[in-house]
Amino acid sequence: PETCPATATSAATTAQPLLPVVGGDLSVPLVTGEWRRYVNLDYAASAPSLKSVAEHLNEVLPYYASVHRGAGYASQVSTRLYESARTTVAEFLNAREDDVVVFTRNTTDALNLLATCLPNDDGVVFLDIEHHANLLPWQRVNHRCVLAGTTQNATLIALRAELHARKASLVAVTGASNVTGELLPLQQIVEIAHAAGARVVLDAAQLAPHRRIDLEETGVDYVAFSGHKLYAPHGAGVLVGRRDWLDEAPAYLAGGGAVREVTVASTQWADAPQRHEGGTPNVLGAVALARACTAIADLEEGALEEHESALRDRLLDRLALLDHIKVHQIWRDSPDSIGVVAFSVDGYHPGFVAAYLSAEHGIGVRDGKFCAHPLLSRLGANDGAVRASFGAGSTTADVDRLADALDALLTRGP
Ligand code: PLP
Repeated sequence: PETCPATATSAATTAQPLLPVVGGDLSVPLVTGEWRRYVNLDYAASAPSLKSVAEHLNEVLPYYASVHRGAGYASQVSTRLYESARTTVAEFLNAREDDVVVFTRNTTDALNLLATCLPNDDGVVFLDIEHHANLLPWQRVNHRCVLAGTTQNATLIALRAELHARKASLVAVTGASNVTGELLPLQQIVEIAHAAGARVVLDAAQLAPHRRIDLEETGVDYVAFSGHKLYAPHGAGVLVGRRDWLDEAPAYLAGGGAVREVTVASTQWADAPQRHEGGTPNVLGAVALARACTAIADLEEGALEEHESALRDRLLDRLALLDHIKVHQIWRDSPDSIGVVAFSVDGYHPGFVAAYLSAEHGIGVRDGKFCAHPLLSRLGANDGAVRASFGAGSTTADVDRLADALDALLTRGP
């Protein structure tokens, strides 16, 4: 069945996608040779492109040209598109007047860039629940890892104690766990960090596609996210934040476009953002990312959150009815989560479950350790877990297909 009568109210609001996505009506072959509508429950890895983003890319493709240096009409249009993408991203984040928007390849690239911009060796503090993108760049510099407690409150106390014990220049934190979907108490983290004289970088790879981010209001100093998790095709990400560190750091990529003046003996580097965007930039990636920001910002306040919460509640309700499924959670007191659910099925390797869902049901999930090895160890999921993640293009039918397939697996037995 494609519907579940148990939660009829949420089913009514989530019967349709909130925003149309490319590939929403894709069919895929099953192991039996039948074809079925593909259920994409892997948004946290890469979300499908919005149709509005794909249409916009088609419109701008004829003007595809090198930016900043060309005199031709197409080059002028491309330059305007690229620079206005920067403005759109700043508006999307309600960035402060003096914040800089640097286009990068993705979140990983943005965080690695910031790691080269630290003004001193005071150190970077992060939690052990982070995605490797927000952990490995800091392992290369002076760093301390704070172990998350069993509650968010205990975690905040541990963070405060660490920052009071020793100075740090930066606290690096994710907005939402890419494994469990739990939201972090961002405002409190910012207050604790700032009170100790540290800045905050927000890894918003998972948060940006699900919740509004307001730099002015929250005081977050830097934010990084990727277009491909925000309904734009692969290719571009951003680092946005305070200018001083970015202007004073060495150019991230030495090359054309990052300079003011060059002689064979020396170079006068440009200020940020150009300073860190050496080489020909990914114009279409930036334009797509910005168009996705606009589409998300244009949604009615709270609509995306409501859509995803209804789907998440429905999935959790259905999983709770199945024996032998354990949904993973970092904290006992998390107030809210995004559309990401990780679980283990007793007696089945996560890799088997994911392969079964794909081959027999046409459902795409992810299994493994989700580039968060320390967190998976802490959760006791040493073989990894299965992760279902969804968003604006997902529907009730999608989460029901997953629950039905798991029910069938457990009924059938190993
Ligand atoms: N941070 C988090 C929380 C993520 O979930 C991911 C990707 O899964 C990343 C960072 C890295 O993103 P990207 O691969 O786009 O650099």
